[in-house]
Amino acid sequence: MARGTMKCFHSQALPTLLQDESSLPLWKGKISCDMLLDENIVTSAEIIDCQPLPSEVIRSAHSRAYLHKILSGQMDLKEQLLLGFKVTPAVYPLVSSSVNASISTCLTALAEKVAVSLSGGMHNAYEDFGLNYSIFNDVAISAKILRQMYPQIKILIIDTDADHGAGTNSLLKDDPLTKTFSFHSYGSRKPSFMSDYDVTVARYIEGNSYIDLLMDRLATALERSMPDLVIWVSGVSGHYLDQSRLMRLNSEDLFYRDILISRAMIKNKIPLAVLLGGGNNENSVLTGKLHRNTIAAVKHNARAYASG
Ligand SMILES: [Zn+2]
Repeated sequence: MARGTMKCFHSQALPTLLQDESSLPLWKGKISCDMLLDENIVTSAEIIDCQPLPSEVIRSAHSRAYLHKILSGQMDLKEQLLLGFKVTPAVYPLVSSSVNASISTCLTALAEKVAVSLSGGMHNAYEDFGLNYSIFNDVAISAKILRQMYPQIKILIIDTDADHGAGTNSLLKDDPLTKTFSFHSYGSRKPSFMSDYDVTVARYIEGNSYIDLLMDRLATALERSMPDLVIWVSGVSGHYLDQSRLMRLNSEDLFYRDILISRAMIKNKIPLAVLLGGGNNENSVLTGKLHRNTIAAVKHNARAYASG
């Protein structure tokens, strides 16, 4: 890969799953991608479209019964309401191509030190059910596939999405070499599966306190886990206009966070795989822009610390 370039894995067909733009989590990657290209932050040569995966790959983290419901499009209404949209047979190829983007991002990060996905970070999916647009847990699937390929690899999952990544924690709890760090605010719900490094902050935390505490706790997690790969579920749901209403961060706070986290990894040559994670603003363009900012921050550091 040429100096300072950064592969961006994408599932270009994913937004076609929906008839309208109401389900923003599937659209925002496209919005961000268009912004990144229009502003020449990434080039079209850096964008790689991903294909659907065979179902055995998904089975590494999900039950046969759940997978069957998604493949056949036969899911009861209550389960579909939990997911947030209608499940039809068209869902599987599109969502599995997004999982493919996450796995490809991790493998490329190992080879080239940094890579990003323009989707993924679906940390609310469990073995046999999904929640809040998280159908398949691409974070856990990626970690499990890497474990099969590299039995000794030490993985740290850094989850800075404002809600808790309990689905990921539940799926990876039996892997001693994969550690999870989650920095979140609960709102009203407490999770059933904690992270290895679990930081709960007060609801409506503001920028300065957020950055100071996050970087302090993250340094401890990095020192203790000494990862060979970081999978970062970046998330922009801590924005004060996010519908989750969990934190009071502004766009500059989030961009500063993204600069600091990506610099900490890239400067120290810790392979970094970036997944978008949550973010559901009242304004879809703003959501796309916040994710675009994350990718721009990572790209800035990839360029600044490119070693040729
Ligand atoms: Zn989330």
